Amino acid sequence: MAQIRIENVRKDFGSFNAVKSSTFTIEDGEFFMLLGPSGCGKTTTLRMMAGLELPTAGEIYIDGEEVGMKPASQRDIAFVFQMFALYPHLNVGKNISYPLISQGMPKAQVKKKVNEIAEILGITDILNRPVGGLSGGDRQRVALGRAIVRDPKAFFMDEPLGALDAEFREHMSEELRALHDRMNATTVYVTHDQLEAMQMGDKIVVMNHGVVEQFGVPQDIYDWPATKFVAQFIGSPPMNFLDFHGMVGTGETHVDFGGASFEIPKMLNGANGALTFGIRPEHITLDDAASYRGEVAAVEYLGTTQIITLDTANGLVKARTASSDTVKVGQKTGLRFDPRTVSIFDAENGKALT
Ligand code: ATP
Repeated sequence: MAQIRIENVRKDFGSFNAVKSSTFTIEDGEFFMLLGPSGCGKTTTLRMMAGLELPTAGEIYIDGEEVGMKPASQRDIAFVFQMFALYPHLNVGKNISYPLISQGMPKAQVKKKVNEIAEILGITDILNRPVGGLSGGDRQRVALGRAIVRDPKAFFMDEPLGALDAEFREHMSEELRALHDRMNATTVYVTHDQLEAMQMGDKIVVMNHGVVEQFGVPQDIYDWPATKFVAQFIGSPPMNFLDFHGMVGTGETHVDFGGASFEIPKMLNGANGALTFGIRPEHITLDDAASYRGEVAAVEYLGTTQIITLDTANGLVKARTASSDTVKVGQKTGLRFDPRTVSIFDAENGKALT
């Protein structure tokens, strides 16, 4: 088990700065997600923690010991790759036992350990099967078995479910999370899929262009995004943004745009000037009596809810309402915003005001 801390870690590839100075802590036993779009630096960050890439600057601690310049082999960690390479000429049991045999563990102990792991992963009945004919899910389980059999301090996974189809992916992500909850080993997991990160992670780091935009528990990241980038990247459909001119009131902030004027019950430092009002689709209700108006441009039926696109003075706004609400394209209606769930961003630098 391990706590992992990175402090002011930076990575340059030649003159290209792939990871800007990053600092965060992964607590012992956490399932920790590194999330962001392609090229944001999440794999590079993971590889530095694992010892597969050396940081250009900064420190990496595993259980308080600085390991930044140590190779992976000296960090007692296990890596699960997307394109997991199993030994094709060995059967399932031998693939799993390989790391123990190469460590010189006595045969009887190896057998006991492999049986334990097979039990946890539900693959006892295929231990003697060649890996060649296995399904994607079973191959993934064998790869996991091989990673966990050594009881490493931490697991590092880079998009491990990326190669699986959508349905199977969901099933395996539930299995992985359940496995983690049984073993409680620190796990660092790279993904570009915000839903996967929200569903599986205890904590999430959101990265963009090599910068850590936010670090926290999924609910805080969803409810209180630190930047417009995070607000847009997390949530589907993403948060709506409406530009307005704000004023600092005494104990509240006054919002004024396109016919709507109301107070947000929180005082925002520096809320004076060009600001962006952010609201999630589920925090908008349609109410004919509301003064802020829009025309329904599209209705997307999603089963229990529907996404309604409204054309407003500030551009298109999406609302999520119950499918039982009858709404027709072309209909004019009022929009009511729940002022308690609003985020306000500095329009220039995209940072949330608190
Ligand atoms: P993806 O999901 O596409 O793998 P990522 O967020 O994991 O993206 P990284 O793989 O960490 O991103 O790459 C970050 C940036 O660093 C990218 O622009 C990438 O091209 C660059 N990069 C990564 N490895 C190297 C390398 N060995 N040499 C040069 N540039 C690299």
